[in-house]
Amino acid sequence: MKIAVYGKGGIGKSTTSCNISIALARRGKKVLQIGCDPKHDSTFTLTGFLIPTIIDTLQSKDYHYEDVWPEDVIYKGYGGVDCVEAGGPPAGAGCGGYVVGETVKLLKELNAFYEYDVILFDVLGDVVCGGFAAPLNYADYCIIITDNGFDALFAANRIAASVREKARTHPLRLAGLVGNRTSKRDLIDKYVEACPMPVLEVLPLIEDIRISRVKGKTLFEMAESEPSLDYVCEFYLNIADQLLARPEGVVPKEVPDRELFSLLSDF
Ligand code: ADP
Ligand code: MG
Repeated sequence: MKIAVYGKGGIGKSTTSCNISIALARRGKKVLQIGCDPKHDSTFTLTGFLIPTIIDTLQSKDYHYEDVWPEDVIYKGYGGVDCVEAGGPPAGAGCGGYVVGETVKLLKELNAFYEYDVILFDVLGDVVCGGFAAPLNYADYCIIITDNGFDALFAANRIAASVREKARTHPLRLAGLVGNRTSKRDLIDKYVEACPMPVLEVLPLIEDIRISRVKGKTLFEMAESEPSLDYVCEFYLNIADQLLARPEGVVPKEVPDRELFSLLSDF
């Protein structure tokens, strides 16, 4: 199963991805997480450091794929999750879609792409141009991370439109939204009323999740020494279990921009 996690910058995609990856591994799945954000810190809490990116590695080998070994680009993370960072195109030039394409091509050459039960792509979704939509070409499911605010829901709506577009030619479904860092969900509920899609989970702001980034550890690793954090892991296990049940999901029909502005504002 291939899952693409999307959402606006800073919303919690990588945090959520790493913890879902471990939750899936806890359920016995062989999992690979691929960071597709040029920020290349997707897998940081799984490995505890910034691993070399595929693009940097390919560049250092003059794009001779045959000189790249799996251990150059695939790193072992916590809980048995394998980790890859695609890296970014040169700033102001190049294309994020190209980088993802090269990453998948290399993983196929290394016979790694079909080895996993689950591959999770962690993708920036502020702008969903053709390049940033590229991971959807490989995905069975898309998940969108959002908070209860306008900007994240606006990005979510753009991502929903990309899923609708890609679903015309691929067997892709939107599994649903994950609310993050919010105890309120009134705007999320308004949005899903206008654009029907499941809400898989809503996580509040939890100080220990913020700390996990600083510590370079996932919540599962932190919970080993602090069992009081088990309840946070349950949120991620719940999302993983829903995905493993292969939900029907939806092909969303996005809300026109102007309607979204009036839907989510008070005037
Ligand atoms: P993204 O990958 O979408 O850019 P990150 O996963 O890196 O976002 O998260 C950004 C910051 O927000 C990190 O410091 C992370 O620890 C923090 N964070 C994410 N989710 C939560 C949460 N539910 N509660 C508190 N802090 C969170
Ligand atoms: Mg990230």
